[in-house]
This record gives sequence, structure tokens and C-alpha cells, in this order.
Amino acid sequence: MSMCYDLHSHSTASDGTLSPEQLVRHAADCGVQVLALTDHDETAGLARAAASAAQVGVDLVPGIELSVTWSHKTLHIVGLHIDPANALLREGIARLREFREWRGEEIARRLEKRGIGGALDGARRHASGDILSRTHFARFLVDAGISKDVRHVFRHFLVQGKPGYVPGQWASLEEAVGWIRDAGGLAVIAHPARYKLSAGRRRLLYGEFRELGGEGLEVVSGSHGPDDIRNQGQFARQYGLAASVGSDYHGPGQAYMEPGRLAPLPPGCTPVWETDSWRAADARHRDAHAAPCPVVPELSPCRG
Ligand code: AMP
Ligand code: MN
Ligand code: MN
Ligand code: MN
Repeated sequence: MSMCYDLHSHSTASDGTLSPEQLVRHAADCGVQVLALTDHDETAGLARAAASAAQVGVDLVPGIELSVTWSHKTLHIVGLHIDPANALLREGIARLREFREWRGEEIARRLEKRGIGGALDGARRHASGDILSRTHFARFLVDAGISKDVRHVFRHFLVQGKPGYVPGQWASLEEAVGWIRDAGGLAVIAHPARYKLSAGRRRLLYGEFRELGGEGLEVVSGSHGPDDIRNQGQFARQYGLAASVGSDYHGPGQAYMEPGRLAPLPPGCTPVWETDSWRAADARHRDAHAAPCPVVPELSPCRG
């Protein structure tokens, strides 16, 4: 029987609404067997998620979703099987967090000019971790009665050309892939159909990503329709990238879908969990977390 994988999700450590423990339990209830927690530029939820996963029998893949600026566009690169203690990764996400803080203040200043006050404090009230996201601003604007829902806020306030938009100054693609690899992980381009790239730019991105040592493409995503899945499956084969699957779950009633409710990979794709790098990273992770052999007096010692 095939396992149920969901390799992209968020907790309150970034812009999800469930705590790491609640997220893991909910994913287990939804039938997910292998779950990656991939908070935006943040690893603070991983230890708590791993502890809950051990209790409910879910295999927790330590992950992250890094914000990247590539050719004037924001892209998301998911890292799977990362070591959250890796120094280069820690340094990198500290820098992204600094930019997030400044950007949050700047978003609030721009909204203030449009007559919307108190957005920074309002957004912070929605953020339980150290990461301040546009999602937290969106939830504040809904609460304040300025928009009817989060989608509406993004469309009218937080995207390019709108009053609260601040251009990203995130990691370069090379940095993001480098940090993930240095931390022992596999780099995956998240929700690739969302970037609406021309064929030429797609060739450039996928080629560059592959050259840098990126390994996967999120062919099945909570934000992909059937055509996106078919197209990205074809690109994964074409560029020699493994295929990943992730709901991008953010909590009940939030974007994008419930954990584990994912379409199957198109035929001919190599699942990311069937690559040598996955197996090697998985084995390293298991070794690092193997429980020490208990020494029980009066019983024969453990073997092997
Ligand atoms: P940030 O990294 O702070 O710029 O925020 C990006 C996050 O905002 C994404 O991960 C999504 O969770 C959320 N987001 C982006 N666009 C939309 C949208 N149109 N509707 C709802 N949520 C969105
Ligand atoms: Mn998000
Ligand atoms: Mn994303
Ligand atoms: Mn995400």
C-alpha cells in the first residue's frame, strides 16, 4: 500500500493557525503518514511537531519554506530533511527575519497613509511566533472590517500595485538552495504554477535551480489545478527534477486545502521520497534521533 505524503504545511510558528502539535494531530486524523512542517523562514515549530508526531505515529520531515527574490519575483523554495541547527541556515533565516521586521513596519506606514492605522500592532496580535507575514496583516484587516476575507485583502492591499505592497528583498536562489543543501536537505520549488512564468523564464529558472543542486518540483500542490499538475509533471520529467506533493495547509478554513487530500503524481514522475538524497537524508535524521539503547538491569543487554 502506498503511503500518504504531505510535504508542505504551516503552523503558528509562521502564518498557520494551528500550533505545531495541533497541526500534526490534525494531519494524522486526515490520514497523513509522512508530514513535512515547512514554516516560512522559520524552524521554531519543528521540535514540538516532532514530539507530537512520535506520539501519534506520524513520520515528521523537518522542513522550511524559504522566501527568495529571483529576477524581481518572489519565489518559495521548500527545504526537506533540513537540520534546523545548521549554522549557515540559521544565519540566513535571521537575515530574512530582519527584512520581515522592516517590511512589516513599512507595510504599516503605507497603510497608515491610506488612513488604516494600527496595522503593525494589529498584525502582531495575529502572529504567535517570531515571523511577521502578510497573512497576519490580512487577518488584521479582516478583523478591522476593512475587507471581507483574506483573499480580498491580498487582492486590494498587499500585492504589487496596491497600497500596502512592499517589494521583497529575500534570499537569492543560490543562497536558498545553498543553505538547504548545507543543512543536509533537498531543495524543492514550491507551488511552481503560481509564478505564472513565461516559457523562457521557466527554462531559465528550472535550469538554474538544477545547476545549483536543487532537486525537486512541487508538482502536486494545494494551489494547483489538474492542468497545473499535468504541466508541472511534464516539466519535472523534462528537467530531471523529482516530484513533490504538498497541501500548503495553513489551518481550518484557511488557504489552500486540508492535509493529505492530494491528487496522485502524474505517471513517469519520480517521487522525491524515492530519490537517493531523500533516503540518505532520512537515514541521517533517523540516526540522529535514534533513542539510546535502554540499559535495563537483570535483562539481557540490547544487541545490534
Ligand atoms: P509573506 O511571506 O509574508 O509575503 O506572505 C506570503 C503568504 O501569504 C503566503 O505563504 C500565503 O500564505 C499568503 N498569501 C499570498 N497570497 C495570498 C492570497 N492571494 N490569498 C491568501 N493568502 C495569500
Ligand atoms: Mn503562508
Ligand atoms: Mn509559498
Ligand atoms: Mn507554504
